[in-house]
Amino acid sequence: MQDDERFECFWAHYPRKVGKLAAQKVFLKLQPSDEVLQQMLDAIAWQKTTSQWTDMSHGRHAFVPHPTSWLRAGRWLDEPDVPPQPRYACPHEPRCEQPGTWRCRQRTALERVKRES
Ligand SMILES: [Zn+2]
Repeated sequence: MQDDERFECFWAHYPRKVGKLAAQKVFLKLQPSDEVLQQMLDAIAWQKTTSQWTDMSHGRHAFVPHPTSWLRAGRWLDEPDVPPQPRYACPHEPRCEQPGTWRCRQRTALERVKRES
């Protein structure tokens, strides 16, 4: 793929279409390979779903960075925030000290046996 084709591909995927020529200038300076372009598209795909990018409180795409700043900052290298894992809630009374551990699960199993007998 030619550099300008890659840029058109990036541009087609980037949701906020402002400052195209400036963005193109930065993009061509970066000369991303096909692999980097793919990383960019992947990053855009998950960043599109973040609360920042989908915030419409000030109009569509108001909080999506300008493509030039996104490119300059190397935002395709960002990593998604991993949502906190739901903690295993101990169903026992009194509560186990370490919910979800072997001992906690064992209590669940014992209670089931007791109920069924
Ligand atoms: Zn427990």
